[in-house]
Amino acid sequence: MEVTIKGRLYSGVVIDEVQSVEFETSEIEKVSDYFFSKKQLELVKFISSYYICSLGDALTLFIPFANHAEDENINVVITSNIVLSDKQTQALSFLNKHKTFLLFGDTGSGKTEIYMKLFEQMIQEKKRSIFLMPEISLTPQMQKRLELHFGEVVVMWHSKLTPLQKKKALDTIYNGQAYIIAGPRSSLFLPIKNLGLIVVDEEHDDSYKSSSRPRYNARDIAIYMGKLYDAQVVLGSATPSLNSYIKFPHYRLKGGHFESSRVFIYEASAESLSPLIYDSVQKTLDSKQQAIIFLPTRANFKYLICGDCGHTYECSFCSVGMSIHQKTRAMKCHYCNFTQAIPQVCSECGSSNLTSSRLGTAQVVHELKESFSQAKIEQFDRDVITTQNKLKKALQRFNDKETDILVGTQMLSKGHDYHGVTLAVVLGMDNLLNQSDYRSREKALSSLIQVAGRSGRMKNAKVLVQSFNEDFFSSYIENYEDFLEEEKFFRKDLYPPFKKLCRVLFAHKNGLKAQEAMHTMYNKLRAFTNVEIVGYGKCAVERVANKYRYEILLRSDKSTDIIKAIIASKVPLAEIDMDPIEFG
Ligand SMILES: [Zn+2]
Ligand SMILES: [Zn+2]
Repeated sequence: MEVTIKGRLYSGVVIDEVQSVEFETSEIEKVSDYFFSKKQLELVKFISSYYICSLGDALTLFIPFANHAEDENINVVITSNIVLSDKQTQALSFLNKHKTFLLFGDTGSGKTEIYMKLFEQMIQEKKRSIFLMPEISLTPQMQKRLELHFGEVVVMWHSKLTPLQKKKALDTIYNGQAYIIAGPRSSLFLPIKNLGLIVVDEEHDDSYKSSSRPRYNARDIAIYMGKLYDAQVVLGSATPSLNSYIKFPHYRLKGGHFESSRVFIYEASAESLSPLIYDSVQKTLDSKQQAIIFLPTRANFKYLICGDCGHTYECSFCSVGMSIHQKTRAMKCHYCNFTQAIPQVCSECGSSNLTSSRLGTAQVVHELKESFSQAKIEQFDRDVITTQNKLKKALQRFNDKETDILVGTQMLSKGHDYHGVTLAVVLGMDNLLNQSDYRSREKALSSLIQVAGRSGRMKNAKVLVQSFNEDFFSSYIENYEDFLEEEKFFRKDLYPPFKKLCRVLFAHKNGLKAQEAMHTMYNKLRAFTNVEIVGYGKCAVERVANKYRYEILLRSDKSTDIIKAIIASKVPLAEIDMDPIEFG
């Protein structure tokens, strides 16, 4: 609806109806054709109270319902039947006994077929399904698979839709034709009637957590929506989060669909393209097989350091090292995108002895191309794969064996099937493991398992891991359950899911203002004895985009205690991050 306040026309949302109010009111001038359902508004209120943001902030996530009528005559025809193996059938029958369930299934164990069987069940009951996945997993392969079985009732929703595609997708949802809505976290907020099921694939994935206000976690919202809509929620992963593993019943779906085996070889070495790697790549190329090389860092190198005086080159606006991009001969900040030329001599001592550290994808591609000039080698990360179309084409080339080696970051490990890969090289695991984050062990191990799972889908494969922590990785690599059981003891009394964490951030161009805001809030928070102040002070990354950053980290048994304390102590500059996963 629209209403004029102080001479200006505003759009507004009716969130409640009451008999009378104590404040001054204006007439509604125009009633819109769009509206938010009662359940959407209930969800808006939950997000606003749990993640501590305004109702307006929470509302911006949602797409409203439309007043025009649904087309009742749409006939859903399922073109193809999904046939499950005995194991998959057993998993499905367990799953159907629970409202919220964790499908703990190895890569290649056939989780997707089980999801599709669930979608089929839902369509028979005239109910709708949301199929949530990390945006990066929303591949053309997945789209093809869904459309093959369900045809016209599938809607793909993602951030790279053109305005016209978006309108078309929404029309399909509005007229009631859409029964399966597949997409990233924003799909939760579409105007879907008769919701019966939410599948959260790769439920452990960090991309479900929003990094801007409201900083919600889509997996947790999906679980909440399950209760609100009385819908079934299925969480799927080969490496589930400790959170879901502890909270929900699970079924362990073991083994790949394909007969294959993997051999793990560890090399105790710092990140570099060692002779062992060159030798393995050579053998793979000689036998006309394919390789993937994973490392967590983009660009050529991260950090430029003066070998004589130790000066490091940081972004002028953020307190982080600049990444070196040889192709554009520039240093680029991956936090704020600030770019500058690579210096030839040290700005502090004039030495030309500038060295770079921490290998990146572009550098690996460059070095491999020098040694294997006949091979086709491609970089596969956010710097190169910038559109859905580029992703589609790169995957096509790799599956058609036009490409021999793919070198990439996390993007490499998500949801794609590579059939001809017999060598996976994994670099930089120790960098992930040594991060100061309570989840670093979980993150490093699950990355390794996810990458390894991309190799040997058809054939026997070798996984070469460069790490000084062979003991850690080798004891859990084939048995993630053992890791989760151990991790329980490590986290007990200190970390989620046993404790609630909340991070409060203060950022300002004037560092003193950010610091003052932090102190003001800290002093108020001290009064709350049921909330522990774990720490406060400068953030690990002190400055981003020219703003100085301070933080307070809170811990408690109950989120309600944290919420109460924050609401009573909040200062205007405070930015709340409930259940944080980023500590930089
Ligand atoms: Zn120097
Ligand atoms: Zn920067």
